[in-house]
Amino acid sequence: MTNCSDAITRIRKEISDLHALLPANGLVAWTAGNISARVPGADLMVIKPSGVDYPALTPESMVLCDLDGNVVDGEYQPSSDAGSHAYVYRHRPDVGGVVHTHSTYATAWSARGEAIPCVLTAMADEFGGEIPVGPFALIGDEAIGKGIVETLAGHRSPAVLMRNHGVFTIGKDARAAVKAAVMTEDVARTVHLARASGEPIPIPANDIDALHHRYTHVYGQQPTADGADER
Ligand SMILES: [Zn+2]
Repeated sequence: MTNCSDAITRIRKEISDLHALLPANGLVAWTAGNISARVPGADLMVIKPSGVDYPALTPESMVLCDLDGNVVDGEYQPSSDAGSHAYVYRHRPDVGGVVHTHSTYATAWSARGEAIPCVLTAMADEFGGEIPVGPFALIGDEAIGKGIVETLAGHRSPAVLMRNHGVFTIGKDARAAVKAAVMTEDVARTVHLARASGEPIPIPANDIDALHHRYTHVYGQQPTADGADER
């Protein structure tokens, strides 16, 4: 039990700190967007409180929930997306972090219901193909989570554009999911600009495979790609 409460304390701080990266990277307006992380070894997650301004977020204001989205400990209500985050953790044991934003360019693709095609080496690296579109789903229960899990099952991408809504990303931990959210907006903007003046050139599937394999298995200082910052 002591180990678990130490982990919860650590993750509250980690998730509180990571939230600062969303406005810093221009991914959110007002109180939109949220990050959660699984508590390792427990059926618990830590998630952003609903409707609290980003500068006011603290480790103590983060909400501890079970994996049905019910509050276990916290003075605030959890994000209205808590049920969907919980659904992802229940159905994807490999996922340790989930991020949601309405970042501008990526959400514009979602409003058209259009996947972002893999036309950049950075996309092949990070996403291993297109960034897919998930179904339209109402906010407040697990419907979004179901759409995330079902859509990503057929893709290497850690990001999905939920139709008419925004971006959800997953990662082995919350930092990896934040990185995927930043990269999603970056490539959404670049491919949008490319297409404004013509038709982007697709990358052949075998080259996408080679790039993705190199990035995820060879590149960087560590066995994982996290922290890689150039390509
Ligand atoms: Zn949203």
